[in-house]
Amino acid sequence: MDQLTSMFNDILKSVMPFLIVVIIVIGLLYLLSVIWVIRDAYLRGANPIVWGLIALIPFIGVFAYTILRPPMLLSDHDEQDLDFTLKQRELMKYGECASCGYPVEREYLMCPHCASPLKNECKICGHALDPDWKVCPFCCQPQKN
Ligand SMILES: [Zn+2]
Ligand SMILES: [Zn+2]
Repeated sequence: MDQLTSMFNDILKSVMPFLIVVIIVIGLLYLLSVIWVIRDAYLRGANPIVWGLIALIPFIGVFAYTILRPPMLLSDHDEQDLDFTLKQRELMKYGECASCGYPVEREYLMCPHCASPLKNECKICGHALDPDWKVCPFCCQPQKN
């Protein structure tokens, strides 16, 4: 029986350093995961303190965060807003065909998609004019509609 105990002690002694390393690694991973959650929550515009506290629950906290975290990063959100503004500005510049919605440019006289008239052409300078313009702004020629 004594022999068995000493054998067990020997095994424990040889395994101990390995165990300590494993515990340190798990501890570090746990710490990093909490830091990651706090940082990620902050970047996503979620409350980093609340999520940090939830992440302190070993394993379950971080797991819950990866499922429940807000889906979008703040910077992505900003980029989408910017994209939307740019598209809107483009629409303002080019406009849309009133009949079919096809994007048309400022100088188009006719919709290239459905061939409905978009603008009048100035008889003198040939610029595209809005139908309700009384005078051509390019050559000052009065327009009759
Ligand atoms: Zn059209
Ligand atoms: Zn003109």
